[in-house]
Amino acid sequence: MTDPLRIPGHLVAPDPGWTTSADVIVVGSGIAGLTTALRLRQRVDRVLLVTKTVLSEGSTQWAQGGIAAALDPADSPQEHLHDTLVAGCGICDVEAVTALVHEGPARVHELVALGAEFDLDADGELKLTREGGHHRDRIAHAGGDATGKEISRALIAALRRVQDDPGIEVIEHALVVDLLQDDGARVCGVTLHVIGEGQMDGVGAAWARAVVLATGGLGQVYSATTNPSVATGDGMAAALRAGATLADVEFVQFHPTVLWLGPGSSGQQPLISEAVRGEGAFLVDNQGVRFMEGIHPLADLAPRDVVARAIVDRMRQTGTDHVYLDARHLGAGFLEERFPSIVARCRELGFDPATDLLPVAPAQHYASGGARTDLHGRTTLEGLYACGEVSCTGVHGANRLASNSLLEGLVFAHRIADDISSRLARGELPPGKPGAPQGIPALLAATHRARVQAAMTAGSGAVRSRESLAQTAATLLSLYDHGPSHDPGPQSWETTNLLHIGQVLTHAAALREETRGGHVRSDFPELDDEHWRGHLLVTRGPDGSVTTTFEPVKTVEPA
Ligand SMILES: Cc1cc2nc3c(=O)[nH]c(=O)nc-3n(C[C@H](O)[C@H](O)[C@H](O)COP(=O)(O)OP(=O)(O)OC[C@H]3O[C@@H](n4cnc5c(N)ncnc54)[C@H](O)[C@@H]3O)c2cc1C
Repeated sequence: MTDPLRIPGHLVAPDPGWTTSADVIVVGSGIAGLTTALRLRQRVDRVLLVTKTVLSEGSTQWAQGGIAAALDPADSPQEHLHDTLVAGCGICDVEAVTALVHEGPARVHELVALGAEFDLDADGELKLTREGGHHRDRIAHAGGDATGKEISRALIAALRRVQDDPGIEVIEHALVVDLLQDDGARVCGVTLHVIGEGQMDGVGAAWARAVVLATGGLGQVYSATTNPSVATGDGMAAALRAGATLADVEFVQFHPTVLWLGPGSSGQQPLISEAVRGEGAFLVDNQGVRFMEGIHPLADLAPRDVVARAIVDRMRQTGTDHVYLDARHLGAGFLEERFPSIVARCRELGFDPATDLLPVAPAQHYASGGARTDLHGRTTLEGLYACGEVSCTGVHGANRLASNSLLEGLVFAHRIADDISSRLARGELPPGKPGAPQGIPALLAATHRARVQAAMTAGSGAVRSRESLAQTAATLLSLYDHGPSHDPGPQSWETTNLLHIGQVLTHAAALREETRGGHVRSDFPELDDEHWRGHLLVTRGPDGSVTTTFEPVKTVEPA
């Protein structure tokens, strides 16, 4: 399929005023970037880690529930694989999931050895809980509901221990604008904007033999999301503009239980982890009816897409904009011990989970798609890797299984670091010479950000239709009529990235005429395996036109 959609070639930015170089550049400091950089550091001479704000910022530190792995002797990778494939609605890449579930337990143990302090039981074993879609207790957690914070702390501490080493350089407040490519389109560095001192201030160029994008998700493309403000899809948008293939971008997970703070609340919203339902909380509507029973055998612990859709249906039937989570029977003592951060945040906002029903509604939470990679994290562009939420390894299919994303970051970071280091040792990935930027530059003024978000939420959000998607596509396209902004900077670069990602997401969502996982079409409410069991691959060509191809799912039977 060749479609009329066009995406500009790069962002308007000042010419680089300085240059630096490394063997490998890692962009982002969540679980994916930190793990990749730490492992590369043991094998490669010069690693440069750059991150948009401070090291700890990103979705990783917000992760509550935990990290999934078959760690209980009664559990098995095979069962974890099964649950992941079911949640992914028939389009997971079985080989990628196999790598995830088999390598996962060792990676979690390594994280513990590195210093991450997970919650332990009386025998000193990892305490494991259950979340939606899992048939076993296999979620390891830390600080009750502060798993991401502890993982981030441990990884940053490990980085600090080696940071004086000349083999690794870390630059904070460094926003990657675009990728640098040689005349053969091979990626050989990045342009980046650094708020720094001395030589590295303003826009510069960093050259490398390989670039690893670990820039996280795109939640800010919607008005309400659980993602932090740095999640503006920058890496995905830069990869798209450079010609890398994106896959499965239409599959966006809306978390069912985000605290509802009233109409018009925007930006990052407080999440009530699925683990609260895992411990026995349940959903009720405004009449107090437990509506999940009978909808799915796992009832309140059904996969996220099922619960989110059931909530949207219930809200429509009852004419409300939220439902309620009832955790009162769990008791103040248990809730405070098991979910200290969630309880504290709710109380700050005026709700006590021990005594009040909590108003909740779905909000954007996770991007299942991204820059398409193989089993080594290689994208379709030579020299470019993607790891973590920015990537599409195929492990999540149409819907991520709860707590599989931290694990994906860990497992594939190792794979990427091993692949790059062995290729460098073999003399592959030679240094490249960046050519001139290709295509028309673009820049949308930061003042349009709320318009992008409102259009995406209205038409390309939790429930979509042909009409709603067409309206969103038209609104996004009309933003180009304002002409390019002449004010390049972090805000306008991020806003333009949101526009570009919003456009391709909406485009893919309009093409997929079925409902599957995180892609819900009110006009095509059924799953359609005959026509749609596969992936939409989106690639920008050198002339700016976007080509979308459908790739049927690989028929690899699980071992
Ligand atoms: C509230 C919440 C709860 C969650 N709970 C869980 C859970 O319990 N279990 C689970 O498995 N998953 C959970 N997730 C999802 C999981 O946290 C993320 O998918 C995962 O942490 C992503 O890791 P990452 O390293 O890919 O990206 P991130 O942790 O988001 O890191 C991205 C990094 O890239 C940087 N960056 C972005 N753009 C640029 C740029 N242009 N230039 C330079 N740097 C850039 C950011 O600043 C950041 O450092 C949760 C997510 C949220 C938001």
